[in-house]
Amino acid sequence: MATRKKTAKNAAKKAASKKAPKYVYTWGAGKADGHGKMKELLGGKGANLAEMTLIGLPVPSGFTITTEVCTYYYDHKRTYPKVLRSQMEAGVANMEKIMGYKFGDAEGFPLLLAVRSGARDSMPGMMDTVLNLGLNDATVESLAKATDNERFAWDCYRRFIQMYGDVVLGVQKTPDEDHEPFEHVIESYKAKTYGEDIVDSELTAEDNKALVAAFKKLVLDRTGQGFPDCPWEQLEGAAGAVFSSWMNDRAIVYRRKYGIPAAWGTAVNVQAMVFGNTGSNSGSGVAFTRNPANGENELYGEFLVNAQGEDVVAGVRTPDAVAGMAEALPKAFKDLMKVRKILEKHFKDVQDVEFTIQDGKLYMLQTRNGKRTAAAALKFAADMVKEKLIDWQTAVLRNPADQLDQLLAPVFDVAEVKKATIIAKGLPAGPGAASGKIYLNADRAEAAANKGEKVLLVRVETSPEDLRGMIAAEGILTARGGVSSHAALVARQMGKVCVCGASGVDVDYENKTVKAGGQVFKEGDFLSIDGTAGTVYGGALATEPSEIITGLIHGKKASQKTEKYQNFVQLMEWCAAATKMGVRTNADTPEQVKNAVAFGAEGIGLTRTEHMFFEGDRIDAMRQMILAENEIDRKKALKKLLPHQRKDFFGIFKALDGKPATIRLLDPPLHEFLPHTKEQQMDLARTIGVKVETIMQRVHDLHEFNPMLGHRGCRLAISYPEIAEMQAQAIFEAAAQCVKKGIPVEPEVMVPLVGYARELELQVNIIHRVAEEVMAAKDVKFKYLVGTMIEVPRGAVTADEIAEHAQFFSFGTNDLTQTALGVSRDDMGSFLNSYTENDIYPKNPFASLDTTGVGQLMEIAVEKGRSVRNGIKLGICGEHGGDPDSVTFCHKLGLNYVSCSPYRVPVARLAAAQAAINDGSAPKAARKAKKKSTRKATKKAKK
Ligand code: PEP
Ligand code: MG
Repeated sequence: MATRKKTAKNAAKKAASKKAPKYVYTWGAGKADGHGKMKELLGGKGANLAEMTLIGLPVPSGFTITTEVCTYYYDHKRTYPKVLRSQMEAGVANMEKIMGYKFGDAEGFPLLLAVRSGARDSMPGMMDTVLNLGLNDATVESLAKATDNERFAWDCYRRFIQMYGDVVLGVQKTPDEDHEPFEHVIESYKAKTYGEDIVDSELTAEDNKALVAAFKKLVLDRTGQGFPDCPWEQLEGAAGAVFSSWMNDRAIVYRRKYGIPAAWGTAVNVQAMVFGNTGSNSGSGVAFTRNPANGENELYGEFLVNAQGEDVVAGVRTPDAVAGMAEALPKAFKDLMKVRKILEKHFKDVQDVEFTIQDGKLYMLQTRNGKRTAAAALKFAADMVKEKLIDWQTAVLRNPADQLDQLLAPVFDVAEVKKATIIAKGLPAGPGAASGKIYLNADRAEAAANKGEKVLLVRVETSPEDLRGMIAAEGILTARGGVSSHAALVARQMGKVCVCGASGVDVDYENKTVKAGGQVFKEGDFLSIDGTAGTVYGGALATEPSEIITGLIHGKKASQKTEKYQNFVQLMEWCAAATKMGVRTNADTPEQVKNAVAFGAEGIGLTRTEHMFFEGDRIDAMRQMILAENEIDRKKALKKLLPHQRKDFFGIFKALDGKPATIRLLDPPLHEFLPHTKEQQMDLARTIGVKVETIMQRVHDLHEFNPMLGHRGCRLAISYPEIAEMQAQAIFEAAAQCVKKGIPVEPEVMVPLVGYARELELQVNIIHRVAEEVMAAKDVKFKYLVGTMIEVPRGAVTADEIAEHAQFFSFGTNDLTQTALGVSRDDMGSFLNSYTENDIYPKNPFASLDTTGVGQLMEIAVEKGRSVRNGIKLGICGEHGGDPDSVTFCHKLGLNYVSCSPYRVPVARLAAAQAAINDGSAPKAARKAKKKSTRKATKKAKK
């Protein structure tokens, strides 16, 4: 008996484990299978529709087909799991029950469906949507009857055939067509019937009937097949099209730009249609719960009466501001304001919503965290902490590190703007100032930008096909479309300056001209746009720095009073409280040091001393040194350089006021300092009194086939130790001067390109000897460190041997990437695109660390270095020190600091703080650190 029971239990268990996976998650009438935290499986849209349903908001019922089906679809030659159809049928039945309509009902009100994509991270406009699905020649009649609105029913049917024909059946513009084929049919019909371009909402039932017939003919002509009548065939076709759109060109380009893995896949959301196009008591809109351009706490968005959602975002009709709804549909507006509050309280972030009003009743169709400019992100975060919606750590995370430099971007020079005439006005859709040569097509804009031109992309309206041109452009100007149009959304996310809906701008694609303010501009002429004010100017206007720059760097009082400045300083204070990893700067002049310190740099991580050799007549002494035939002559030339270097170092130490400075000894190959043209060589011969033939011979002798791997770095000073001697002497004499003047100093002498412990040992001996000599001669004492760059793979894997002689390591990830990948950092332009497009490089490895390859070398070096010298100081000074993802990696490695160019310092500070908050190593309370750093920041700002 017991055994039988066991067997039955096992069988049940087996059956349960064999149970088909759940591919369809329904929601509606306050209940949902999923919830907001299931974005991986349901995509962002599906998860939030479930969540909104659960919190009692008015969401039309529907279901989500999971992202697992997308993966299945691509793994199984674009077919579906067998059980999907029955689960979808159950999903539709659930909707029918809740809505009270039947899918494909030719008698009563037919249930119509919206089919939309929904990736884990939203990808606005990149994938496809089909609305009004379920209509055919029979159901359109029952819809007309049930609503007593024939015009509405045929309007829906026309829209459906157009969308389905385009998205599912592929009836699209061919390369030699100027217009979308369906639009062309509409335009010809309007011209023939009305003799003018009336708006679509003015088309009558009869017009729409005629257009439906014309569209069906177009589909037949183009595809050789009739338009599908069966609602289920339509539904499966639409779901397949959404899954297929995951791999369309624009989605791929978008994913590459935002680092979204292809493996995530998209979900498909099938939702009962509600109709914003039933008449003047209906409408559709999109809105942000706060202003995503400037961060103001106001409902922001757009709305169109008697329209479906696509009309608002497609940019075809310029919609009204959402505030206008208060008058047009007061009850629905009041409800929307209530929903706004509920959403922010629940999601604790600014939401970007889509809604429809059908006969006066509000329905929510989507909510997601709103994309925002850096300025808006800063204000949202600061305000929400004040409103006690979020804590300070969340506020730090809410500022995207890779967008922070938008806040430092220039604005137009005020004097220039006063003089300039506004030639057109549009909507301020992406803040900042940009000027550039205009291009009216994305390909030409991209090609011009690749040639190094500053480009403005000007379009009547943008579509996702323009993405490449938008990425390449400084700014985007459109004649049509609102602040939620594709152009505006994408521009804001990319941090591009954008003015849209500038109706005074007449874009003529055929003649490649733009008319505005009575002037005609040809492609290649300059325009300037102000995406904060929404204004357009002819010509190129000069720009001026942002108020954060003027406040921090120039100490301007007026700028320091602005809210943006104060929020920025507050954010940097929170960053300081969150992380232990320091941020230093790569700087070669006192001016650069001053800027970096104002941004919060804690010292210098890299001074490239060779940059100091090019100024004034120093280059002549340098060249003399290189041309010297023996040690005595070389020393003579070096003696001339010594005072210059000493003065430079003194300036830097003074600007640092006691903060540490890592100064690297000479690194580049010597040929870089010699003149290469005949005239320059003759000039030099005259200046330093050497025969031109001698110079030519030396240039010839120093020529290297691969100078990046040649006689450079510490190899120079192994051959010519007097170079290291002179540089060490200059550094220590400058340090001695500082000590005498009461200026604290902390020099760190760094030897470049070390691969062998012995290389470093030889240099370290020289440096210590010189230090002792200087201290004795000047009768002062100061502390200093001697360390090395880790920038060749041998240096990384023998870091334990090297650490015997090094008090610190700084990862030179430019060279380390170059030598680990075997790719010249200067010559990858010709293949970088094909490498990223083929998913070999996830990103340019010289911009963002190759953490799996180069990162492993770093890990080895950290471990080996610490095994010999516990507590060895570790930093990074390659370009990666200012890249947020690379900074996160450095945090995980436990480096003491990252070093980057001065203007990247805030970005690195933010990225470092976010890394600490994300892995839980940030302290919970910011208060103490906050007060301390407030004082510091104010003091800094005063200076
Ligand atoms: C590096 O190689 O990462 C580095 C900082 O040095 P440089 O770029 O001057 O070679
Ligand atoms: Mg290097």
